[in-house]
Amino acid sequence: MYAKPDSNTMTTRIARAEDAMDAALKSLSYRLTETEGPRMDQTKSNGASNGVLPGAKPLADRPLSDKGLAGMRNDNAPVAVPGPDIAPVPASAQRVPDAIATGRPSREEAEAAVRTLLRWAGDDPNREGLRDTPARVAKAYGQLFGGYQQDADALLERVFEEVEGYSDIVLVRDIPFYSHCEHHMVPFMGLAHIAYYPTKGVVGLSKLARVVDTFARRLQTQETMTAQIADVIESILKPRGIAVMLEAEHLCMAMRGVQKAGVSTITTQFRGAFKNDANEQVRFLTLVRNKP
Ligand SMILES: [Zn+2]
Repeated sequence: MYAKPDSNTMTTRIARAEDAMDAALKSLSYRLTETEGPRMDQTKSNGASNGVLPGAKPLADRPLSDKGLAGMRNDNAPVAVPGPDIAPVPASAQRVPDAIATGRPSREEAEAAVRTLLRWAGDDPNREGLRDTPARVAKAYGQLFGGYQQDADALLERVFEEVEGYSDIVLVRDIPFYSHCEHHMVPFMGLAHIAYYPTKGVVGLSKLARVVDTFARRLQTQETMTAQIADVIESILKPRGIAVMLEAEHLCMAMRGVQKAGVSTITTQFRGAFKNDANEQVRFLTLVRNKP
């Protein structure tokens, strides 16, 4: 059961803090898109289907009880960029905004920002328990948002072509992932399922899981992440068909906003054979759902 705070003060303060963070992120991402040139090429869809399951209504047509969830569908929202204090972005990194390579703050600036947020939340960054927190948070960002340093295309470069003529479905399901929504920087987590029909070869199965991690460790929406995974597989492997399905719980919906826990959001991308043939979608969904 969710326990209501016993005074309105806390709720008001948290709401005001959220507004201020939203405004700050908006202004930051606005500045990044205005001044730093092209942003991440994350909406390249290569004629992607809009992820509609057979017999299911598109997400956009469903009644949404939560404005936040509707907001998550805005794939064109500018990406707000954190500054993980780890290795510089490799020159080969694609699908990463130029802004990350150039305008990144120093580690000291990142820690100062965490201290500001701690004060904004209402705590004292100088008390003993919080003294090392800014450093820990800056370090944790290196892992939580390490996807900005990774090149998803490069992960799939090694294609195994000797597959003895195997051209049937390859499905990797139940890949766990942890990500953060770009609207609140609050976690969403769940499972990814990826299937493709190989043409010129197959990739190591673990590489598909690493592709999921790469995009999960950036700020985006679940919808964008689904398309990004399909995009990279399509551009490198050129398979006869791709199906990607993500199911996740968004803590920004469970902990704040409408405060509904246990709600799953499902997003899909069907390309090629999966897009053109409803039977292929059924086969994919059956394989995903029928667990031994
Ligand atoms: Zn959110």
